[in-house]
Amino acid sequence: MSTRRALVGFAGLVPDAPQARRRAGPEAPTQTLAGVGPRIAERLARLGIHTVRDAAEYLPRDFLDWREATGFRELRFGQEATVECTVERVSLRPTRRRNLKIVEATLADRFGGRAAGIWFNQAWLAEAFRPGMRLLVHGKLTPGRGLPSFAVERHEVADEGAGRRTVGLVPLYPASQEISTFKLLEIFVGALSAARFFPDALPARLRAEEGLPTRADALQAAHRPRVRADFEVGRERLAFEELLVLLVGLLRRRRAVDEGATAPALGEPGQLLAAYRSALPFRLTPEQEQAIVEIDRDLAGARPMQRLLQGDVGSGKTVVALYALLRAVEHGHQGALMAPTETLAEQHFLTIEGICRELGVTCELLTSSVAPKQHAAARARIASGEAQIAVGTHALIQAEVSFRSLAVAVVDEQHRFGVEQRRALGVHAPHLLHMTATPIPRTLAQTVYGDLDVTEIARPPRDRRRVITRWIGHERSAEAYTRLRRLLEEGRQAYVVCPLVSESEAIEARAAEQEAERLRGAELRGFRVGCLHGKLRTGERREVMDAFKRGELDVLVATTVIEVGVDVPNATVMIVQEADRFGLAQLHQLRGRVGRGAEQSFCLLVSRPKDELTEGAQARLEALVETSDGFKLAEVDLGVRGPGELLGTRQSGLPDLRFADLLRDRRLIPKARRWAAELADSEGPLDLEVERLFADADHRGFA
Ligand code: ADP
Ligand code: MG
Repeated sequence: MSTRRALVGFAGLVPDAPQARRRAGPEAPTQTLAGVGPRIAERLARLGIHTVRDAAEYLPRDFLDWREATGFRELRFGQEATVECTVERVSLRPTRRRNLKIVEATLADRFGGRAAGIWFNQAWLAEAFRPGMRLLVHGKLTPGRGLPSFAVERHEVADEGAGRRTVGLVPLYPASQEISTFKLLEIFVGALSAARFFPDALPARLRAEEGLPTRADALQAAHRPRVRADFEVGRERLAFEELLVLLVGLLRRRRAVDEGATAPALGEPGQLLAAYRSALPFRLTPEQEQAIVEIDRDLAGARPMQRLLQGDVGSGKTVVALYALLRAVEHGHQGALMAPTETLAEQHFLTIEGICRELGVTCELLTSSVAPKQHAAARARIASGEAQIAVGTHALIQAEVSFRSLAVAVVDEQHRFGVEQRRALGVHAPHLLHMTATPIPRTLAQTVYGDLDVTEIARPPRDRRRVITRWIGHERSAEAYTRLRRLLEEGRQAYVVCPLVSESEAIEARAAEQEAERLRGAELRGFRVGCLHGKLRTGERREVMDAFKRGELDVLVATTVIEVGVDVPNATVMIVQEADRFGLAQLHQLRGRVGRGAEQSFCLLVSRPKDELTEGAQARLEALVETSDGFKLAEVDLGVRGPGELLGTRQSGLPDLRFADLLRDRRLIPKARRWAAELADSEGPLDLEVERLFADADHRGFA
């Protein structure tokens, strides 16, 4: 074993002397690195590498595993290996082809084996190689005249610190046409040396307690691992730091929002809430009770509540939301519930108004399609406080709406609102409860919504039955309708969801009406078929919904406007046409419209022929058949689509992460969270990192 071996590992790398002397700072341009002139700098920039730090943080995507042979004699023809050898003689040979020059060098290994090393098209090497020079050559042995030939793919001079480029795990970087992975490798040697002197954002105490390497060692391990596992150790340490920085940043934002903001402390729940509990036709589930405990804790104090209530469709979030609203009312304040669509707002209003009437609490509905005169009257009642609870769409946050004393606001389907809209409501209401029926794993939620506290309702009320879900190709859709008719004859009701049309709401509405008409004359002849879509006026829409609720319609042909909130327990069948066009979360939401009563419910997903579907579409539909657990489905969805797309606007506002993958690294999140809480107030290199990470996101309007 040569002394070089000991230098291969990341801990033993000797910094290239000139780099170390110059000590390029992290933000120094790449041109300060050896081998980088203006032209290369430009090419690096196109890979997103602008500074020395960028270079050091540009991690390999994979590695070549180049083994070292003791000598040429050990090799069979055709075998690839790296050999340490000495140059004996060098010559430059022209070839018959005009532009091709070959450098040939007689190479001797340490055991007296010899080969003719061949380099194509690198004529300058004839000058660079001198007899007696020691090289590491990587290539392939082939038969030759006299000596066997060794076609060299890569070589390096075997002096101190060598072995990083031709032996062992040779990094492969995401390269480009303009700049090869090997060129990057050369450049990064300098960057890594410089990085040894960069500040480490992780305090020594944290590193010691968590057993983490220094940043420099982590970078070294990720670029130059001895074994593949080293790479992961390095990457994970960098990912951990990044998550920590992210969480500290989010925590500081949360504190900045809290600072100065005070909310009315709502004390303990009293009479009104007791009355509410006894007015409910059921007992709250333990999960709902737990959610209420957490909400009560928030509302008791003057620190504004910022809570996310996650729960699958039908898990009973609305009951909990109304509880929070009534807590405000009990103390003489107002509550507001904001929903993303008119249908949903109306639906909530009907539910809430029913119970509120029993309790003697006044409710108001405010959407943009309420006629101007009534709109003004409703606004007046909200402003005077006569309306104790207001339910509505974003109409609630228009400038002309003012509350007498809004203490608690609930935002349903919060991910459907823009950052700005949620912020606007936050200005009015000190206590905020965000709800989502697209749950994501808790650890993930805690990061993505790092400035919110998270409550989950993981299990629906006990007496709900699983919706039996079937997936069939449309060549068998007749079977679906046969089943549907049988259930209708038994007195059940049904939804038929029309294909998703992306062009416009108007086209979608027309398609739904045509489909309703077609079904009336075909599969659903003899049944009462209504149609619901986004182009109906509020009054019309409510008429259709009420008729369906009262059982005057058997079937509702609808667009996705029924996706959220519609609640008709007797509707136990749903057919989704062209189900492969919908997203997983959307299908799950749609399916949540059935299975709301005591009867067994069915959801029939009709798609294009199965073998014509993409793998992603097949995975989605299979997942739906297999499980009705929204949390599990969210994980499948995350796997298929990645967190960015699933989480929508909010996520896209998060800073871009270099090392961490929120899904893959979510195991690290709880630990990072604990440290973030501890380090949020401390000063040091961590601050710079926080600023850096968020600078770009702020630029893009992160809330
Ligand atoms: P979500 O808003 O989470 O989709 P909802 O609050 O609309 O769910 O509740 C779904 C259905 O379950 C509603 O019909 C509601 O009345 C009912 N429900 C809620 N909580 C309970 C409970 N604890 N026991 C029985 N039924 C409940
Ligand atoms: Mg709901």
